[in-house]
Amino acid sequence: MKRYEYDVVVVGLGPAGASLVYMLRNSGLKVAGIDWVGEDKVWGKPCGDAISAGHFDRNGLPHPSGDALMQVVDGALVYSPSEEGVIRLSGEGAGYMIDRNKYGLMLLREASKAGVDIYLRTRASHPVMEGGRLVGVKATSEKLGEVEFRAKVVVDATGSGGAIRRKLPESWPTTENPPETDFVVAYRRIVELDYDIEEPDYIRLYFNVNIAPGGYWWFFPKGRRVANIGLGVQLGRGFPHPATIYREVLMKRPDVGREVRIINEAGARIPTRRPSKTMVWDGFMSIGDSAYTVDPIHGGGMGYAMTAARYAAETLVEAYTKGDFTARGLWGLNLRYMRTTGAKQAALDVLRMFLQTLTNDEIEWAIRKGLAGVDEIASVFGEGELRTTPGFLEKVSFIVRLLGKPLLLTKLVLVSEYMRKAKNLYLEYPEDIRGLEGWVERVENLYSEYRKAVGIPF
Ligand SMILES: Cc1cc2nc3c(=O)[nH]c(=O)nc-3n(C[C@H](O)[C@H](O)[C@H](O)COP(=O)(O)OP(=O)(O)OC[C@H]3O[C@@H](n4cnc5c(N)ncnc54)[C@H](O)[C@@H]3O)c2cc1C
Repeated sequence: MKRYEYDVVVVGLGPAGASLVYMLRNSGLKVAGIDWVGEDKVWGKPCGDAISAGHFDRNGLPHPSGDALMQVVDGALVYSPSEEGVIRLSGEGAGYMIDRNKYGLMLLREASKAGVDIYLRTRASHPVMEGGRLVGVKATSEKLGEVEFRAKVVVDATGSGGAIRRKLPESWPTTENPPETDFVVAYRRIVELDYDIEEPDYIRLYFNVNIAPGGYWWFFPKGRRVANIGLGVQLGRGFPHPATIYREVLMKRPDVGREVRIINEAGARIPTRRPSKTMVWDGFMSIGDSAYTVDPIHGGGMGYAMTAARYAAETLVEAYTKGDFTARGLWGLNLRYMRTTGAKQAALDVLRMFLQTLTNDEIEWAIRKGLAGVDEIASVFGEGELRTTPGFLEKVSFIVRLLGKPLLLTKLVLVSEYMRKAKNLYLEYPEDIRGLEGWVERVENLYSEYRKAVGIPF
């Protein structure tokens, strides 16, 4: 068996892993990136392909351009269940519809030019442990056969499957088994349509629990005639698979059903919950979907995968300088992520559970009442990095809170109280590994107390 030595091996080259190898390209570290797909399938996991422009600036990544940029997004239309209530959110150049494959390949090529070794068609099968320490991963490469990649740090960026993370020793705190209801399964088609899409620079989100229970369905134009159309459905509650709903319900709509051809169709799971309790352990990091860094409300995960990659890159350089690749030496990733983006996502996880209990009548009412001011919302989420553009559902919840239906209002007062508590708990993420156990217990207690207080049935 071949054996290669690196400082860092990044397993999975989707938005998290490709961003990380790109960010480490001039770090002085010896880096390898591996993925089981070939060039044509890089970043090939199904996605809505929509991303806020802010993620690129924030994380020092090039904005998509040329073939990688399919559509500039100038706003979003948000529909109530009857589709008579519509909220129009405008923001010129607020986001992009991207060609994931082209953007991902660009990052990998730049990384490779700068000396990062990229191994495609190479499947990592399991971690290599020696004396209780993680020292690398075993992989099978189409070109090279069986390979052992030895590294000071193995980064799991394999998406929601967590291919390496779930094979680490059970006693490690990286082991986590969240309930199924913390995930949605989403399915989408990229289709060519036989009509011109009106306002292709506006993405559309539709909230209707009869179509997308525990999620929403979307219509995201990629130019005048091509659209990414899909839906997400909460898992663990016995709802039908979104591919079935797509075929049986959405295809009956003229805007969806008028397909000339299906360019691509696929589905996958999305973790729509707070981040994992630790993103690091001895010689190990996880980032992106593998560490549950997706926004719990809208399920967008590309931008936060990039954010996690940035914090991982900063931490790896720091660890290298100190020569400490233990959990202690890598702890900076937890501190950087949990106390900023993670704190926001922990609060949104509280809100997510509540929103997944709303009926169509309640959603209809909230959307028709219009929106609360953005300042009001921003003030709830605080300063600095927490103050990111609020997602639609956050706004809906605040409309409800401001304009009030008595029962909803009572619940929402509780929801916002627990959002604040969850955020504060993540802001108090332990300074070092010794505080982890106690902190995890406080988090678990808080969420179970919340479920009881608000009557979350899952
Ligand atoms: C239908 C759908 C729609 C979505 N819409 C949006 C959206 O519009 N905007 C948004 O921001 N997010 C969206 N998301 C979420 C987004 O796609 C993910 O959050 C994002 O892709 C996560 O990036 P990642 O790098 O962590 O994981 P992934 O994109 O899953 O990448 C993981 C990589 O690891 C590789 N891999 C896995 N196992 C192995 C192994 N054993 N060996 C080697 N390689 C391996 C895979 O081939 C893959 O390339 C959507 C998700 C779905 C399912």
